[in-house]
Amino acid sequence: MNRKYFKQRFKEQEAAVDRIKVLFDLAKQEFNKHPERSSHYASLIISTAKKMKVRIPSRIKRFICMECNSLLVPGKNLIVRSIDGFMVYQCLKCGNKKKYGYLKEKKLKG
Ligand SMILES: [Zn+2]
Repeated sequence: MNRKYFKQRFKEQEAAVDRIKVLFDLAKQEFNKHPERSSHYASLIISTAKKMKVRIPSRIKRFICMECNSLLVPGKNLIVRSIDGFMVYQCLKCGNKKKYGYLKEKKLKG
């Protein structure tokens, strides 16, 4: 493996993250009219991230259920509660819960 390989790989990963962002917008657009399409986009986001070994941006990851591949929309199929200083996101479709800390942790990472 040479430097060129890594550069190419990096570009592909950058492109994958861009694609994830586009897919997320599409998923949001389709949510009301075509929920099944919206889920399809959400599952594409997950498979793209896995295939390209990229991280899904956290602002997007929060709104996708990794259990049932649904796009999560607050007030529709997502409940957000704050419990003991954590934000708990619960998918109403499959009941999966995700816990997030407050911003403190993020700041430490930079
Ligand atoms: Zn779910």
